[in-house]
Amino acid sequence: MQISSNVLDLPSFNFYQMKVFNTRKEIFTFINSTKNSNKTIGYVPTMGALHQGHASLVKQSITENNITIVSVFVNPTQFDNATDLDKYPRTLDNDINLINQIDSSIVIFAPNAKELYQNNIISKKYFFDGLEHEMEGKHRAGHFDGVGTVLDLFFSLIKPTNAYFGEKDFQQLQIVKKLVSKYNLGVNIIGCAIFREQSGLAMSSRNERLSPKGRQEATFINETLLKAKEQFNTKSAAKVEEWITKEFAKNKYLDLEYVSIANIDTLKPVKRKSKKQQYRIFIAAFIDNIRLIDNIALN
Ligand code: AMP
Repeated sequence: MQISSNVLDLPSFNFYQMKVFNTRKEIFTFINSTKNSNKTIGYVPTMGALHQGHASLVKQSITENNITIVSVFVNPTQFDNATDLDKYPRTLDNDINLINQIDSSIVIFAPNAKELYQNNIISKKYFFDGLEHEMEGKHRAGHFDGVGTVLDLFFSLIKPTNAYFGEKDFQQLQIVKKLVSKYNLGVNIIGCAIFREQSGLAMSSRNERLSPKGRQEATFINETLLKAKEQFNTKSAAKVEEWITKEFAKNKYLDLEYVSIANIDTLKPVKRKSKKQQYRIFIAAFIDNIRLIDNIALN
């Protein structure tokens, strides 16, 4: 059994045959030990409060790599709202349990912020060729600088062959691809389909904070996306956006923050549709004061 010294004070972890590392040194030593083995490393970055959406990424990594590493880290530099950061669910025991049930050979890396950032918890500045200024970039100041900074740190420690990101955070996925190509990080970035609850609600750690009623009402987001997708066959992007805005205005539980029908490569809003381009509808909305995002592929 290989349990990091930092978690030995949590006896429940001793049941697991898992490697759970909390320090840069431990993960560095582990990665170094795999260096000459030609083993591929699949990496799944997460902020914890793991659910089946995360699990789907982890399972894909297991089938495609010799070693899978999951990081569990609520990254302070990507939050522009202190309350959101404070309230972000932290459930490491459950996360370890869920990962252990998938496969006990998975390595978990769960450092704290001071350890990962070596006491220098600030963002670097990145240029993602404009991707960072659209949608989430307009509404969450500095968010993608925080994402870039933390992934730079994790990639340089873990040196993954493949890294797995959900299309649930589609803008993030495109930005990570840009980060890797622009800054030559040498990681293969793999996008994974959105995993949904039976109700159609996109799985999210934030769903746990919804009231039962809120969770029910939040299904409106996906329902509206599905109807809008049909409309996109015959209507302009502007008309479909207008329809979505009106539907949300009629809904007393949800507050629409933005809707954007955008080109998947540039993330810029569609002016005129072209068969050669691919589009998605992106939505951010509040319910119970909790911010949810979702999107759907159109063509
Ligand atoms: P998070 O812990 O929310 O930062 O998410 C970690 C990774 O899991 C990101 O790449 C997310 O896009 C992905 N993810 C989160 N929820 C889902 C979902 N419902 N389906 C697919 N991927 C997801």
